[in-house]
Amino acid sequence: MNAPRRQHKPDAVSGRKLPKSFKDLTPTNAFNPRTFFHEMVWKALLIRRTGQHKQPSFPRLSHGQVAVTWIGHASFLVQFSDLNVLIDPNFANWLFFLKRIKRAGLRIEDLPRIDLVLLTHAHYDHFHKPSIRKLPAPKIGVMPWGMGRLARGLGFERIIELQWWESFVRGDWKVSLTPCKHWGARRLHDHDRGFGGFVLEHQGRRIFHAGDSAYFEGFKEIGEYYQPEIALLPIGAYYPDSFRNVHMGPDEAIQVFRDLKAEIMVPMHFGTFKLSFEEIDEPPRWLSELAASGGLSDRIRVLEEGVPAVF
Ligand SMILES: [Zn+2]
Ligand SMILES: [Zn+2]
Repeated sequence: MNAPRRQHKPDAVSGRKLPKSFKDLTPTNAFNPRTFFHEMVWKALLIRRTGQHKQPSFPRLSHGQVAVTWIGHASFLVQFSDLNVLIDPNFANWLFFLKRIKRAGLRIEDLPRIDLVLLTHAHYDHFHKPSIRKLPAPKIGVMPWGMGRLARGLGFERIIELQWWESFVRGDWKVSLTPCKHWGARRLHDHDRGFGGFVLEHQGRRIFHAGDSAYFEGFKEIGEYYQPEIALLPIGAYYPDSFRNVHMGPDEAIQVFRDLKAEIMVPMHFGTFKLSFEEIDEPPRWLSELAASGGLSDRIRVLEEGVPAVF
């Protein structure tokens, strides 16, 4: 399957400075600001915000069942019979000038008790302070090294920083930080902040959230070490090609899924914020073509925001 045909090439120009808030969200500063504004801000402004906050209908779970609700972008609610986990919660309608194109599937007020919040890295689309602050407290926050300071004052009962391959265990659940190929700085020079993905193990189930990542060989190791069963993988923000140094497209996400040897893939990080130049509806379209031609359609579950899927 070929990559989608492109109608435009972004101008790679340098020297001129973009507003810092945009830079924080993107892996490059080598764009003509006008092109950047046109692609990420203007096009998003023209798109009508779609999607609805769903009235929550959280399933009653028995031991060993897990419910995964996609909230939108990289945000998920993962529920077990006795544990509710939020990953990268972001309910914002705007990130600076970037408009959310699809509403969050759930309202913060409608969330159940939250026991645990996993934060993959400090980028604004994943670590959204106003969202975290509004979550019911107390909750435990687990995040990569160098992020704890940012998380203070946001209602966490405990803040746990992990290095790659380290785990935090409490009772009968365990969460481990996995490596990824991305970067962690929230601003320009705070390169001491970590980044990663998480494997959550509870009641015999193993859920993997990759965070933001480019394709890299480490996914094979993660697969061998943790044998994740359900893999939440990013498929958006891959064009122009330079973005593939820090993000992946559907083609690479499928390779990651194969490398992990997971059973189910749930795509994420598309359709919510326009953080790159591919058209907003391209990632899921391309993913479903690739899934069909690769014989994976029954193992790739595209979730509707706000609707729990029980596995
Ligand atoms: Zn990121
Ligand atoms: Zn991201």
